[in-house]
Amino acid sequence: MASKKFPLSGFGSVAIHSGHTPDGNYAHLTPIYASSTYLFDNADQGMQRFKGEEKGYIYSRWGNPTMTEAEEKISALEGFGVAAENTEPIKLKTILHASGMAALSTLLLGTLKSGDKILTHFSLYGGSQELMENILPGLGIEAIIIDLRDLNAAEAAIKKDTTIKMVYLETPANPTIQCVDLEALTRLAKVHNLIVAVDNTFATPYLQQPFKYGVDYVFHSTTKFLNGHGTAIGGALVGKDIEHMEHRITKVHRLLGGNANPFDAFLLVQGMKTLEVRMDRHCSNALKVATFLSNHVSVKKVNYLGLDSHPDHLTSLKQMKHPGAMLSFELKGMQAAKDCIDNLQMCVRAVSLGTCDTLLSHPASMTHFGVPKEKREKYGITDGLIRMSVGIENVEDILNDLDQALR
Ligand SMILES: *Cc1c(COP(=O)(O)O)cnc(C)c1O
Repeated sequence: MASKKFPLSGFGSVAIHSGHTPDGNYAHLTPIYASSTYLFDNADQGMQRFKGEEKGYIYSRWGNPTMTEAEEKISALEGFGVAAENTEPIKLKTILHASGMAALSTLLLGTLKSGDKILTHFSLYGGSQELMENILPGLGIEAIIIDLRDLNAAEAAIKKDTTIKMVYLETPANPTIQCVDLEALTRLAKVHNLIVAVDNTFATPYLQQPFKYGVDYVFHSTTKFLNGHGTAIGGALVGKDIEHMEHRITKVHRLLGGNANPFDAFLLVQGMKTLEVRMDRHCSNALKVATFLSNHVSVKKVNYLGLDSHPDHLTSLKQMKHPGAMLSFELKGMQAAKDCIDNLQMCVRAVSLGTCDTLLSHPASMTHFGVPKEKREKYGITDGLIRMSVGIENVEDILNDLDQALR
């Protein structure tokens, strides 16, 4: 944005122009810098770069111009119109990673140590939950899992255990699309000096900006809506303590080695340019699909934040621009759900989310196959539940496909 003569006023313009550095060869787009290492004019220059006294690239695990553009775009979007505590526009630093899970690993290993605990929500992305339940305890870091929508329960847990260092949450969350109150929970966490980290993958910065509420870190699986086309796995960690991001977190990122690559970064940059128009269409399609499903005789229940039947509808109105593109719906049992999935003609049978095309999955036979039925059902993942990432096709075609698949 530095090269623009006037401040850009719209999110969509920032998504298109921010982060771009003019290219020496006058290429319109930042090329894919497929180079693992970078040259020094002489030994002194090498030393200056290593000391950080001269700006410049050294080695692509540490950074690369194509990756920098994606990082700066994400910082600009997460910080768009957001003020810091001193009322100045907030400054953010983003580090791109090989995957969402790599970004989460850097976050957790960069901020926590043995003996620390994480307070988190019971409905997390499966990989995040497994990392906290199966890998971190071996390093002496444990997670306390509660319903973070219950602020009294959160306060009681924080007061009871002084080794809690971080509140970690995802909103909206899989697969019943629960929504945690970012403002209230961050206020509570900050009274107790806790780190607050938010997985903003489902919402994207267009729909929700957690830094508005004073959180410390935002993390993304860029694989989903930010890329938007299902062409690359990626992750991003965004922080507002620039000093901490540039030192401790950068060190942990470089040493754990979950670096992104320039090709995937290029795809991500192109995807993010259309984030605003894609999300508007994703969300308006999702509301029409949710309304159609809630009026359908075969459908027992629809979980969509835009319907006032959703228990977290009011929370979503407070903190999200639109209610998102993710929904789930319940049919009468396992066979009905499998039949619906099998009958799809245009919509795609696949896990993941956030692509142009509509994706449907059946958690009980796919993502949550290994989870015992009683435990699944406690979280609302019944045999008949179908999860849907509503795409940006013409909505009549999505509705027609669902209509014939449900017959
Ligand atoms: C996909 C996803 C992740 C993990 O990201 P990867 O890019 O697959 O490593 C984390 N959180 C949420 C909400 C996700 O949807």
